[in-house]
Amino acid sequence: MHNQIPKQIKTCLNELNQKYEAVLVGGYVRDALLGRKSKDYDIATSATPEQVKEVFKRYTTFDSGIKHGTVTVVIDLHPVEITTYRIESGYSDSRHPDQIEFTTVLKKDCMRRDFTINAICMKQDGELIDYFEGQEDLKNKIIRCVGNPKERFYEDALRIMRAIRFSATLGFEIEPETKAALFGERQNLRKISMERFIQEFQKIVVAEQFDHLLNEYLDVFSVMIPELKQLSEIPAVWNRILNDLHDSPAVLTYRLALIFLHLSRFNADKIIPMQSASTFLMLAKRLRMNNEVTGTVARFIQNSQIELTPDKVLVKKRLNQFGDSFFDYLGFRKAYDLNEDIYDKISKQVSDIIGRQECFSLKQLAINGSDLKQMGITGTKVSSTLNQCLLWVIEGQVDNNKYKLLDKLNETLKGRN
Ligand code: ATP
Ligand code: MG
Repeated sequence: MHNQIPKQIKTCLNELNQKYEAVLVGGYVRDALLGRKSKDYDIATSATPEQVKEVFKRYTTFDSGIKHGTVTVVIDLHPVEITTYRIESGYSDSRHPDQIEFTTVLKKDCMRRDFTINAICMKQDGELIDYFEGQEDLKNKIIRCVGNPKERFYEDALRIMRAIRFSATLGFEIEPETKAALFGERQNLRKISMERFIQEFQKIVVAEQFDHLLNEYLDVFSVMIPELKQLSEIPAVWNRILNDLHDSPAVLTYRLALIFLHLSRFNADKIIPMQSASTFLMLAKRLRMNNEVTGTVARFIQNSQIELTPDKVLVKKRLNQFGDSFFDYLGFRKAYDLNEDIYDKISKQVSDIIGRQECFSLKQLAINGSDLKQMGITGTKVSSTLNQCLLWVIEGQVDNNKYKLLDKLNETLKGRN
């Protein structure tokens, strides 16, 4: 298995092992043992950051997290993170250790790691060092804290979310004592930063079986997102959400919209899309969700109830309204309320419209602003007139032909005077 270790990582381990001790640890080892690919490599070493820099003095190094003992070395243009073995203590704020102490004892470094499956080390030659029976837990598909779970979750509450995330992405069970502690210590989540929370939450949202996880860990997520608890208190709404999530593809924006489009139901038994969308925008801001995700979800929510049938004129109007994001929106509607047959018919119409280059947008319209100016139409009238012409074309009242359009316009203008 160590043959899969990339050259630059081997070089790194080799250089350090001349004078000190260095091993691979964490995600890489876990994923390699599971036969999965992993993107980042964590190297742990007995060398202090200064010593690491000395070893790699011929290379470019960055003090990427020197306070925490991390130095980044660039080898063959690849950044490699090397962290000194460390002991953490006194997490009085449930987010940062009060003290970090370097050590030369690997076991002590492993003790600060979150889960047994994340504390397995691999030496340069592939030999494993496993102080906490991580391999056994990997085999049995179990997430278990290193040490006392209550203490570990109190020290750093992000570990609560990491436990759920690893269980979700790997399909592992959380060991009962670890699970009980995760619920017991959940209020500590308030002390971690929103960015760290939401990052983990979003990874959980796109996991397989998110519907089950949402139900099971509702009390945990609700510490930071109380709206979830409120939604769960209306059984019909909650069942609908869980069913929709069950059938939804693993797309973050779809799943968030499927949950939060019901936000207006707190005050009404009907969904009021504008109200749900604006409540969601406030929620997303509080949760520090990124702008792109927030914008897309709000748009899905806002348009969740608009008419969408396999009617060609209507489909063209929607294409004009959504532009390039129409397929994404259509996917959301399929996850929410469109049946397979309707979805297929609409998709077919879209391919036909695009394949035949039928006009559904101003860009494709046979006349433009300067044509209107020549007719004496100026100012804000230009855009409203162009949109009127587009509507005629979409509705089949006139062909998308410059002269026919101008004729119809002239006629209409005359009629008004
Ligand atoms: P992935 O990168 O696939 O999300 P990972 O296990 O590599 O998973 P990282 O966040 O890259 O996770 O952290 C690397 C290692 O550092 C972990 O495997 C774990 O040993 C340790 N670690 C990370 N975060 C914590 C934490 N909050 N508490 C304790 N140990 C942690
Ligand atoms: Mg990692």
